[in-house]
Amino acid sequence: MAGSFLDEDFGISDFILLKDINVQSFIDNLRIRHANKKVYTYIGEVVVSVNPYEQVAMYDKNFVNMYKGREIYERPPHIFAIADAAYKAMKRRGRDTCIVISGESGAGKTEASKIIMRYISEVTGVSGQGEVRRVTNILLNSNAVLEAFGNAKTNRNDNSSRFGKYMDINFDFKADPVGGHIDNFLLEKSRVVKQQKGERNFHSFYQLLFGADSAILSELGLSKEPQVYHYLNQGDTKVASIDDKTDFQQVQAALGVTGFSKEQKKTIWRMVAAVLHLGNIDYEEKDNDECELKSTSKAGVRKLADLLSVDEGDAIKTLTSRTVSGGGDIIAKGHSIDHAVYARDAFAKALYERLFTFIVSGVNKAMKVPNGRGELHSKATVIGVLDIYGFEIFDNNSFEQFCINYCNEKLQQLFIQLVLQQEQAEYESEGIGWVHVDYFDNSVICSLIDTSRTGIIALLDECCLMAGNVKDKHFLENMNKHLSSHKHYTSRALSKADKSLQPDEDFKIQHYAGHVTYKAVGFMDKNKDLLFQDFKRLLYNSRDPIVKNMWPEGKQKLAEVNKRPPTAGTTFKESMFNLVNTLKSKEPYYVRCIKPNETKSSSQFNEERVQHQVEYLGLLENVRVRRAGFAFRQKIDLFVSRYKMLCKDTWPVWRSDPRDGVIKILNSHNLASDVQLGKTKVFIKTPQTVFTLETKRQES
Ligand code: ADP
Ligand code: MG
Repeated sequence: MAGSFLDEDFGISDFILLKDINVQSFIDNLRIRHANKKVYTYIGEVVVSVNPYEQVAMYDKNFVNMYKGREIYERPPHIFAIADAAYKAMKRRGRDTCIVISGESGAGKTEASKIIMRYISEVTGVSGQGEVRRVTNILLNSNAVLEAFGNAKTNRNDNSSRFGKYMDINFDFKADPVGGHIDNFLLEKSRVVKQQKGERNFHSFYQLLFGADSAILSELGLSKEPQVYHYLNQGDTKVASIDDKTDFQQVQAALGVTGFSKEQKKTIWRMVAAVLHLGNIDYEEKDNDECELKSTSKAGVRKLADLLSVDEGDAIKTLTSRTVSGGGDIIAKGHSIDHAVYARDAFAKALYERLFTFIVSGVNKAMKVPNGRGELHSKATVIGVLDIYGFEIFDNNSFEQFCINYCNEKLQQLFIQLVLQQEQAEYESEGIGWVHVDYFDNSVICSLIDTSRTGIIALLDECCLMAGNVKDKHFLENMNKHLSSHKHYTSRALSKADKSLQPDEDFKIQHYAGHVTYKAVGFMDKNKDLLFQDFKRLLYNSRDPIVKNMWPEGKQKLAEVNKRPPTAGTTFKESMFNLVNTLKSKEPYYVRCIKPNETKSSSQFNEERVQHQVEYLGLLENVRVRRAGFAFRQKIDLFVSRYKMLCKDTWPVWRSDPRDGVIKILNSHNLASDVQLGKTKVFIKTPQTVFTLETKRQES
């Protein structure tokens, strides 16, 4: 194991030790490591992971034991080492820590988060305590549940998470897991009603159709054929790498482990089935621009009403009209066909989203740290794991990409603040010589999006709140008016020469990770996220208490419904602020995931794609800061007491100035050139020096 840092046959295991640091040398090193099945490489304490797209035998019990309780530089790079560092910080120093996993879709974030959770469950609860086992079991099983309802096949990843996830694991004073909590962000619910070519709806639908036995399916009124359903027949139905049938059994079991009762499980699948029936409801024109159900849809509505335990007549009414108050009267206003289809899809999306929220809160209930355990509770510490969507640039970028990319701006900002700024600040306060590293501070882009009154989200909200026929075009004009001089915003009206931008349609943001053109069409609609009160009332009146409880606001009478719920954009912005605050309060560890190719191949290494990711993850800047700076640091007196046996002058006790002691120790081993003395700490440039010191210490 010794010398693993400079094992040049397999590339260099810490980028800090590269001879010349530039994009090419960085990528060359990654390519060599990838070709040699070295999944992980360090930048100091940041781990860079390149998706191997095949099982690499490096996660079993032997590997767990190899990393358990070790220091990062003692073993070859591994995500276990980062998990262990976070765990040790929590256990030994009582620090709350978090592990932030970033990278684009398919880069390996979710796999990384699962590996971390498995590692933590392996190294804890050695005493075999029942409660710890129970909690660990839920932690591990929660993945299967969340993935069934929140993941889907996309063109980038067969098992793509369509929601962001932050998970806290709580530990007791013995550093065993005693509970946890999941926060989920922005489920991509548009997928429920519409999928691109080659993609699928959420896994749960196919699991139900392919996995449930015929008795269950007939009770739910479902056919085994996904092609029959409008919400499933737009894209693919089968995925080679996925066995929906077995997954259904696993999810059923996992739902049990994560605390869902038999009734709850039944309702969950009834709601999934209801969504499918809903998608097949068709309308035809009546007179005066209103519509009614096609006769072929009547049986479907009956089944829908049955599955949701609501009155069939109410369901039909809600699907074809809405109640409005006009001149003091409450009247039913019929929908046009277009409106009815829109309302139906909004209903389907809302049903599924509430179901997902219900499932997340169910898992949270099961993992809740029990109250009233006094001391145990007050000493509990936390490791948070963030697995959240990476930066996205598609051919067509809409509100969803806008939110996702904004999220990445916020996380990049946090990374800059925590890793780069903190590092530089420490060198300055320690008064040690070093080269200032310039980096791009993206706070200007964050405020372009989230500043109050004139940020894009505020300008969007403003348009959404205006009365009358306000269109997405007005939203674009509103941005052009307020943001014309902003360096990171443009549109055709502001930059006539940019022919790539469609007038009245597109706007472009220069994100830190690249330029993205967004289509303004649909922004207002998605931001308003409108669901007629009638649907909420319908479900609030459900005879199934589980359904009813998902829709508490259905209780409001029409006259009481005047306060608009916060917009989707503002809700998302607030959840990002909360997330950043949560992460800021913890000691951060970073896993940066890279996708080596677009074809899920285990051998291909696409330099261009990798380079793009290396650039937007800011990895070179990260190396430069660590290199310009120092890989390791330790308090001066601790350094002397740890290494005093390496020098006859300092052994067995060194009573003079500890600074002189450090110098004596280093000189006796010719290591002084690699080290600088700050006001309170010893700064060591390369990990190799630390390794040498450690080895000599063990030998002496
Ligand atoms: P992301 O969450 O970043 O979108 P995933 O974690 O779902 O990506 O990974 C996509 C796929 O890549 C996985 O389904 C798996 O096939 C493969 N993969 C990712 N990480 C690993 C790994 N460490 N070892 C083997 N295969 C992996
Ligand atoms: Mg994922």
